[in-house]
Amino acid sequence: MTITISKDTQFEAVIGLEVHVELSTATKLFCGCANDFGSDPNTNVCPVCMALPGSLPVLNERVVEFALRIGEALDFDVPTQSVFHRKNYFYPDMPKNFQTSQYDQPICMDGKLEIQTSEGTKVIRIERAHMEEDTGKSTHVGSSGRLHGADYSLVDYNRAGVPLMEIVSRPDISSSQEARAYVSELRAVLKSIDVSDVKMEEGSMRVDANVSVRPVGQEQLGIRAEIKNMNSLRSLGRAVDFEIARQIALVKSGEPVIQETRHWDENAGKTSSMRSKEEANDYRYFPEPDLVPVVPTDDMREMVHSSMPELPAQKRTRLVDDWNISDSDARTLVSNPELYEFVQVAVSIGGTDIAKDATSFAIIEVAGELNEKGLAIDVAPITSENLAQVCTLVANAELSRNQAKTLLGYLVDRGGVVSSLVQELGLKQVSDTGALEAIVDEVLAQYSDDVAQWADADEGKRKKLQGFFMGKCMAQSKGQGNPQIFNSLIESKLGN
Ligand SMILES: [Zn+2]
Repeated sequence: MTITISKDTQFEAVIGLEVHVELSTATKLFCGCANDFGSDPNTNVCPVCMALPGSLPVLNERVVEFALRIGEALDFDVPTQSVFHRKNYFYPDMPKNFQTSQYDQPICMDGKLEIQTSEGTKVIRIERAHMEEDTGKSTHVGSSGRLHGADYSLVDYNRAGVPLMEIVSRPDISSSQEARAYVSELRAVLKSIDVSDVKMEEGSMRVDANVSVRPVGQEQLGIRAEIKNMNSLRSLGRAVDFEIARQIALVKSGEPVIQETRHWDENAGKTSSMRSKEEANDYRYFPEPDLVPVVPTDDMREMVHSSMPELPAQKRTRLVDDWNISDSDARTLVSNPELYEFVQVAVSIGGTDIAKDATSFAIIEVAGELNEKGLAIDVAPITSENLAQVCTLVANAELSRNQAKTLLGYLVDRGGVVSSLVQELGLKQVSDTGALEAIVDEVLAQYSDDVAQWADADEGKRKKLQGFFMGKCMAQSKGQGNPQIFNSLIESKLGN
């Protein structure tokens, strides 16, 4: 069905993401050189990764193990065998002039990942994930910073041969929010299974977005452009939004969208054309003759299967159920392993009854404060034990929530012993009904004119009066009276 475009035509975006993840193995994909970010240039190199004549690749077994872990975590099929191919293209920082990659027999096929969208859970299908080697890195010296117009260029082969997994989603993503949710969840999953440090800023996780638009209701996909060079979730979101708007404007004005690779310019906030998009046959793929097919053994599959850790989605569900915390708090904890550990230890000391308070205090009072100071939680003065004790005092009504916040502020700042600080700061909450009743009586006697207005007051007025008496009682008790008890005493004394 072809839809006639008018100015009122509604469009939808169709987005697929290709994510390259650098695997954090000790050595490279086909040689024993260290896989180490930040070494001096050309120090982690050997004849294999420099592609000297006569050198032969040997597959790193750990890479296959990592690929199997990814297979488990993203619900992929892992076929009996997969095959390496040579992908031929010229690039100055690729010493072989081809990249050893996988083509029509990748190690992982047909996976999926669930993401949370504004309309609930959505399943994004993943077409494939395959193993391949990274290229080197060139630096173009001169005012342009690019190859064209450079005075000269330097090349560092440390990264050549570093193992990558390329994870290719199906075009199931429909907005920049979903694209960000997908990458963010994928990052959490890969981090939890310990296969990569997944840092977008350092390039150990690189995202390319294939974006097209079509009128709502049209089956046929529009022409897509591939966007590169987004190095944060934020730039991914901005680049996708820009590209959707650009393509809709083109289609509306009757101009064609060109199939091409586009470069995201973070400062300019727009994409620009880099080169026309290659087709698969431009790469002249052929099976790598120096490597046998990869056939993971049953033992290896079983070893990986039985050693899989809890995945982020499972962990969130468990926390929401067992700790009675919100989904958003569970997300915050699961995406911050150090903070999760901090709360987890507190809960193991104080029991699951304090889990809800411990989580919210940890996120707002502790982590919030530490973020401002730029301090990591594992070196902060406050301990999990402190947090557990504060939460237990709140649970036993010995400390109000406001007092707990004051106390946590001190602990975050300089640490200390909870029981001594409670004394020192005069933070003990008074819950003795007799003592509190005496205060309420005194306040009501002192403000008898206001009490006299109670009988004829409407609901709004009563609320105000109650707040007023409450304030006076709290002041009288120097902030130490239990507010719930004060409230119920005031209510019962004023009557209906
Ligand atoms: Zn090497």
